[in-house]
Amino acid sequence: MPLDEFSLIETFFRRPTAPAAGVLAGIGDDCALLDGGAAGVLAVTTDTLVADIHFPARASAFDIGQRALRVNLSDLAAMAAVPRWFLLALTLPAADEDWLRAFSAGLFAVADAHGCALVGGDTTRGPLAVTITALGAVPANVALRRSGASAGDQVFVTGALGGAAAALADMTQTGACSAADTTLNARYWYPEPRLREGVALRGIASAAIDISDGLVADLGHVARASGVAAELELEKLPLCGAALARFGSDQTRDWALGGGDDYELCFTVPTSRLAALETAVRAGRLRALPVGRLVSGTGVHARDGAGRSLALTRTGYRHF
Ligand SMILES: [Mg+2]
Repeated sequence: MPLDEFSLIETFFRRPTAPAAGVLAGIGDDCALLDGGAAGVLAVTTDTLVADIHFPARASAFDIGQRALRVNLSDLAAMAAVPRWFLLALTLPAADEDWLRAFSAGLFAVADAHGCALVGGDTTRGPLAVTITALGAVPANVALRRSGASAGDQVFVTGALGGAAAALADMTQTGACSAADTTLNARYWYPEPRLREGVALRGIASAAIDISDGLVADLGHVARASGVAAELELEKLPLCGAALARFGSDQTRDWALGGGDDYELCFTVPTSRLAALETAVRAGRLRALPVGRLVSGTGVHARDGAGRSLALTRTGYRHF
């Protein structure tokens, strides 16, 4: 007999453990009631992943489940928030128990790794889509915003770029649901939400964003929100080694700039806080790879190694 919505939730999503800390009302009511307590501010984000648009529909359900939560937690990382709770809205073509078992195992593997509890959601029938709403705690006044940067700030990223787009290109070429190269595959399917890094940047970064759409687009959001321009030094861009080896530097650089799905943080630091950043880096709290700086003006611009200006496009760059 097919599972109805309530037995589906009971079987696969209600956990036998006691309610997580701070959950005044979890699964089973119209709303979850959550006590932020001394933690203060709740950061709330939601993202929908649609099959064959955001991920290959035939991919492993475990991978789909765990990646859906990772990309949502990445948004919490960008605000320097600590994950606490999440809600899941699942649209399914059918209540396939094997698929659901694997999906929920993937989902909870990431949830447990980050101490993040499922507190509610919805299930409907339709083309496969996964919507997650994640809630995180961050003390008042230390949340990182896109709007806090100023001209003169240095721009950094937390890791190498271009690998996720390279994996996607590999999967598109081969028709497979995973990239043959395990490093590339991990860059797409298992992006590490930079939560530890986000917290380490409290009081240091003037602005931050996670790189979901490519460095140019996402740094562009910071520049616009902060009323400044960004200048990237293309020679400094940290490029994913596995993507470089497989696809070469021009293609990998284009993917770093415009490919997306890398989920590293891009953040800005005023000159006065560079020493504090260096201390955090030395203490192993994060990687900070310099990629450019903010200047007055608008938009995102780039220079090559010889100092020549390059025109950036959404998908890469063009020489003038
Ligand atoms: Mg984001």
